[in-house]
Amino acid sequence: MSPQEKVRARFEAEFGESPAFIVRAPGRVNLIGEHTDYNDGFVFPMAIDRATWIALRPRADKRVSAISLDMDERREFALDDLPRPGKLRWIDYLIGVAWSLGERGYALNGWDGVISGDVPIGSGLSSSAALELAAARAFYEVSDFDWDARAMALACQAAENNWLSVNCGIMDQMISAAGVADRALLIDCRSLATRTAPLPPGTAVVILDTGTRRGLVDSEYNERRARCEAAARHFGVAALRDIDLAEFERRGHELDEVSRRRARHVISENERALQARDAMKAGDAGTLGRLMIESHISLRDDFEVSSPALDAIVAGANAEAACYGARMTGAGFGGCAVALARTEAADTFGERVAAKYRAETGYEPAIYVTRASRGAETVFPASIP
Ligand code: ADP
Ligand code: MG
Repeated sequence: MSPQEKVRARFEAEFGESPAFIVRAPGRVNLIGEHTDYNDGFVFPMAIDRATWIALRPRADKRVSAISLDMDERREFALDDLPRPGKLRWIDYLIGVAWSLGERGYALNGWDGVISGDVPIGSGLSSSAALELAAARAFYEVSDFDWDARAMALACQAAENNWLSVNCGIMDQMISAAGVADRALLIDCRSLATRTAPLPPGTAVVILDTGTRRGLVDSEYNERRARCEAAARHFGVAALRDIDLAEFERRGHELDEVSRRRARHVISENERALQARDAMKAGDAGTLGRLMIESHISLRDDFEVSSPALDAIVAGANAEAACYGARMTGAGFGGCAVALARTEAADTFGERVAAKYRAETGYEPAIYVTRASRGAETVFPASIP
């Protein structure tokens, strides 16, 4: 059963009627533009065809009652008396979204809902943003406010940052809110302006989960961030976003060796993200793949956030004839890689990479062949075209 069928079936069993609405919001994968977000730069994610779904009906008493099929739990809370932030239980994401929308002046009504999804949880494909945007969409359907993808993304990011105390940029929520079918979304993390670009014809995006999870990543993240900020200060700009490669070539030698490599990654990665858009507009899978390969090398050698497992799965992917290019995706030190592959060979490509990787490392990978999907939406009742 699909998650959509599951939430509908359980809703009907639970409440003895059809849901008034079924909403969904997708997870995401970043194609290129890594560690650029906190440098006011460019990221280039797409929404994947895996999502969190909620079947719901409005309530008249300003309460939310939700059943999580994936966590096998029912929880309830009152909108006018929100429980304090808990320890990242699933319900806290819903409470956080309610809090954040309330802070922004949205008047919310309550709902009864059943939640389930097929975004793998904790794999770096942002099941948390999918849950947040699905919750925002549920509130939208039972309340009386307009849906604005960017405003909803910002509200959900604030929920994650300020209610759940998880430090994340705007990418996850923005792409889950504003994803477009068969398109990737270039996001300017300074202005939050977005531009779509088509995935090259005949290509599939394949997510390669190394099955390894990042360990002590916070201290590494803080080190990278501090160096990038210091480099920007040295150049007298607000963020590394404001330095182009030509200027960096002239002045890069002024930095110490490690800072120079960190800065070079960010500056070249921003350039690659913009070039990736041109490649997509031209339908040029070869160039897009090459940019992804260069991105990985830069993350591995200059930014030093890859891992042996990520390097192994990326090398295995790049060795396949069906692959245009692969790179680590996300913060690094474990988690997922992303590959651009020929559509008709995508399944065998995934199986071959997985077999090689398993034999070489002993880790158990997971492979997801994906398509770019739409952002948060209501699928039932069907909207009028
Ligand atoms: P990810 O990389 O998947 O975003 P996070 O740790 O940020 O990982 O978020 C995962 C958390 O989000 C889960 O522990 C759970 O609390 C919540 N969550 C995500 N998807 C679901 C779901 N389908 N049902 C219930 N809770 C979910
Ligand atoms: Mg998350």
